[in-house]
Amino acid sequence: MGHIVVIGAGQAGSSCVVKLRNSGFDGKITLIGSEPQPPYQRPPLSKAYLMGDMALERLYLRPEAFYAEQDIDLQLGATVDAIDVSAQQITVDGVSLTYDELVLTTGSIPHRLPASIGGALDGVHVVRGLADVDAMAPRFVAGGRVLIVGGGYIGLEAASVAAKLGLEVTLVEMAPRILQRVAAPETSDFFRNLHQGHGVNLREGVGLERLTGEGAVSGAVLTDGSELEVDFVIVGVGIAPATALAEAAGIALDNGIAVDAFGRTSAPHVWAAGDCTSFPYAGGRIRLESVPNAIEQAEVVAENLMGANKEYHAKPWFWSDQYDVKLQIAGLNTGYDRVVTRGAAPGPVSFWYYRGKTLLAVDAANDPRGYMIGKRLIESGKSPSPDVIANPETDMKALLSA
Ligand code: FAD
Repeated sequence: MGHIVVIGAGQAGSSCVVKLRNSGFDGKITLIGSEPQPPYQRPPLSKAYLMGDMALERLYLRPEAFYAEQDIDLQLGATVDAIDVSAQQITVDGVSLTYDELVLTTGSIPHRLPASIGGALDGVHVVRGLADVDAMAPRFVAGGRVLIVGGGYIGLEAASVAAKLGLEVTLVEMAPRILQRVAAPETSDFFRNLHQGHGVNLREGVGLERLTGEGAVSGAVLTDGSELEVDFVIVGVGIAPATALAEAAGIALDNGIAVDAFGRTSAPHVWAAGDCTSFPYAGGRIRLESVPNAIEQAEVVAENLMGANKEYHAKPWFWSDQYDVKLQIAGLNTGYDRVVTRGAAPGPVSFWYYRGKTLLAVDAANDPRGYMIGKRLIESGKSPSPDVIANPETDMKALLSA
């Protein structure tokens, strides 16, 4: 049945090869990853694993022996340098390999601070891979002073771990409020209160001017002119899809590797899934940076490699853990014009996003029931009126059958 090569041994790559074998594919499979570890889950890197509450093996999606048992040729610590789409060949660390079908699951690359403002100083970290987290973990010692640049979910999760471990945490967010890119002011307010309640020095509307230090970072100058002393810095200022390999091969990009609903790229016999892709959604294209998307899109690609001819319909959901709060998000809030709140902290609380009368998304904090009901409403296209949601007397479960 030929040779399927998957480039990128992360969440999407491993989901694709597992699905191929589970669907009865008995041809040759090669999974190539530049990191030394077998495929692992990234979410705990800024949560339980960073906290020291999770053993390394528990991060692995499957035990390392699984791949050999499934006759999957797992090549770790190996980087694909080039793809020749007309010859159906790739080059791995200089060695050529021929494929019948190729799947790109190259993930994302974190933005770094430019060296001109101190980004290359020792003690300046990003949070993307195990190597990043293992390098910064020894610095998480009570009394240490950390500056976190960026108030998105990654930065806030790192702040939560640091504060819990007794570090002195300053977080700067250049935008007027944390989570501005992804959430409503209500959700930002909720997390601001949470972090301030744990002693984090949260500075919104303030950017980083530059980091200072001789070899290693020792201080920071902020855009409001203030200066602070720091022992290390965590940069959480977003990611870019890893598209360089595809681009050099002449594969079409559009805010990521552009794939159709089936997961096909512009090149014959080349597919893609996960963080590195943008795909058709609600009449436009989107790129999602989430585990559920990586798994589900990669599984659809695997099924299509087996001839299923199946379209991928994303049902976005996401989560974040900070202190004792579990946030669960269903739907996409893009274009919202109204937000309705149910409940109040410290109890379960949820924020419901509407555009006109249409329910778009829900952010549910310690409210698994609100999340579950919101997700089912959104996925079935039901939009209870905002007043009904806001009313504490509403029997939420009854809305599902309404
Ligand atoms: P990745 O898992 O990044 O895998 C891509 C792999 O491809 C990498 O191992 C890379 O080294 C390899 N690669 C790239 N180029 C090459 C090449 N040329 N040759 C060989 N190998 C190559 N999502 C959630 O849903 N919930 C969360 O709570 C959450 N928390 C997160 C916390 C952190 C700290 C991070 C970093 C991410 C988090 N995410 C979360 C996002 C989620 O982990 C990603 O969306 C998901 O891992 C994407 O899977 P992927 O397979 O597309 O990419």
